Amino acid sequence: MVVCPECDGTWNSGEVVKGEIITCPDCGVELEVLNVEPLQIAPAPEEEEDWGE
Ligand SMILES: [Zn+2]
Repeated sequence: MVVCPECDGTWNSGEVVKGEIITCPDCGVELEVLNVEPLQIAPAPEEEEDWGE
């Protein structure tokens, strides 16, 4: 179960992995998975970094 820090919506994300970006189905905010057990999420940075190759 994921609880959105933005809208307090909850949903079942299924399997997530650390570092994954998930999107709240309620408000659409992007959330980064900081840790899996226990589950910790935080709003992902809005700007996408281009790391190049
Ligand atoms: Zn939300």
